[in-house]
Amino acid sequence: MTKLVKSRKAFACQECKAPVNKGDSYARKTRTIGNPRRQTVENRAGIPTIIEHGFSYTAKLCEKCAGSF
Ligand SMILES: [Zn+2]
Repeated sequence: MTKLVKSRKAFACQECKAPVNKGDSYARKTRTIGNPRRQTVENRAGIPTIIEHGFSYTAKLCEKCAGSF
């Protein structure tokens, strides 16, 4: 269930690029790219380096897009 919050400033929906005005409802959605939990250690030039295989970020979506998830 997506919780809608009131926007305190205008921005563009990250899905459809529609403008979300101040005071409009929008939804925050955590998006994951790849697999952030998967990490491997590789030896790069003699230095053990942690390689991450993904990351997550919070997308801000308009009410219409939030309903389609
Ligand atoms: Zn949208």
